[in-house]
Amino acid sequence: MRIDLHTHSSVSDGTESPADLLASAQAAGLDAVALTDHDTTAGWSIAEAARPHGLTVVPGMELSCRWFPDDQPPISVHLLAYLFDPTHPGFSAERARLRDERLERGERIVAALADDGYPVSWSRIVERSDGGVVGRPHIARALVEAGVVDSVDHAFGTLLHHRSPYYVAKIDTDVREGIQLVRAAGGVPVFAHGLATKRGRVVGDSAVAAMVEAGLLGLEVDHPDHSADERAHLRGLAADMGLIVTGSSDYHGANKTTPIGACTTDPDQFEAILAAGTGSAPFRD
Ligand code: AMP
Ligand code: FE
Ligand code: FE
Ligand code: ZN
Repeated sequence: MRIDLHTHSSVSDGTESPADLLASAQAAGLDAVALTDHDTTAGWSIAEAARPHGLTVVPGMELSCRWFPDDQPPISVHLLAYLFDPTHPGFSAERARLRDERLERGERIVAALADDGYPVSWSRIVERSDGGVVGRPHIARALVEAGVVDSVDHAFGTLLHHRSPYYVAKIDTDVREGIQLVRAAGGVPVFAHGLATKRGRVVGDSAVAAMVEAGLLGLEVDHPDHSADERAHLRGLAADMGLIVTGSSDYHGANKTTPIGACTTDPDQFEAILAAGTGSAPFRD
C-alpha cells in the first residue's frame, strides 16, 4: 500500500484540477491519496465524482493557523484535517473567514507590488483562480508570467517570502481553536510539516504538547521540507505522546518540484486515521 495524505489541487494553490491530481496519484502507483486544499472543501465533490477505480480518496483540508508564543510574534502553523463533517457550522464559518482573509491580504500584496511598478493585476489573479482560495503561489505565477522572475520558487525567494517588504500576514485561526473545530466536526487533526525550519520559525515541544491537550491526534513526520534530524525529533514526540505518524508529499502540481508520493504513510497509521475520523467517509470502491 502506498499512501500520500497531503496534496493540493487548483481549488487552492496546486496547478492540477482535482480530477487530474487523482489521475497523477494513480499513475504514481498510489493506493490512497488525501486531497487537502488550503481552507476549502470545494474539491471534495469533484474528487468523489472523478475518482479512478481502485484509488481510495480521503477528503481533507489544510487549515491556516497560528500559534501564539509568550515572548514572540505569532508563528504560522498548518493543520491537516481529515474526514470531518464539511457542514459543521462553526468550522465551515471559520473556513469562509479564512478565504475572505486570503482575498483581502492577497489584494494588499498585489497593490504594493503594483505601486512599485511590478506588472501584476489582482482582478486577473482572482479571475484565474479555480476556487477563489488565493495564496502567494497565485501571485508568484503572475510574476512568472509577467517575466519578472523565472520561477515560482524564485518569486518566493525574492518578493514573496515572509520577510519581504511586500509580505502581508493573514489573520489565521488560533491553532488550538482550529484543533477543537476539527474534532467537533468529527475530523482527525494532524500537525503539518511542524518542524520545517526552512519555511520559517517553528514551534517548540511545549506548543506541541498544548496542541495535543487541545485534541491533536497526529504529526506529519516524513515531509519533503523536514531534515533527517527534524523527522527523528518529531517521531520521538509522536512516540512519547501516542500520536499517529504520517508521511506525505505536500504535492502542488507544477508550483513545486516535489512529485506526488514523494513521502508516504504506513498502512497501520492510515488505518488509525480512518478509525478516528467520523465526520465523513473516504471515497473508495
Ligand atoms: P500563503 O498560504 O498565501 O501564505 O502561501 C503559502 C503557500 O505558498 C504554501 O502553502 C506553499 O504551498 C507555497 N510556497 C511557499 N514557499 C514556496 C516556494 N519556495 N515555492 C513554491 N511554493 C511555495
Ligand atoms: Fe500551499
Ligand atoms: Fe502547509
Ligand atoms: Zn500543504
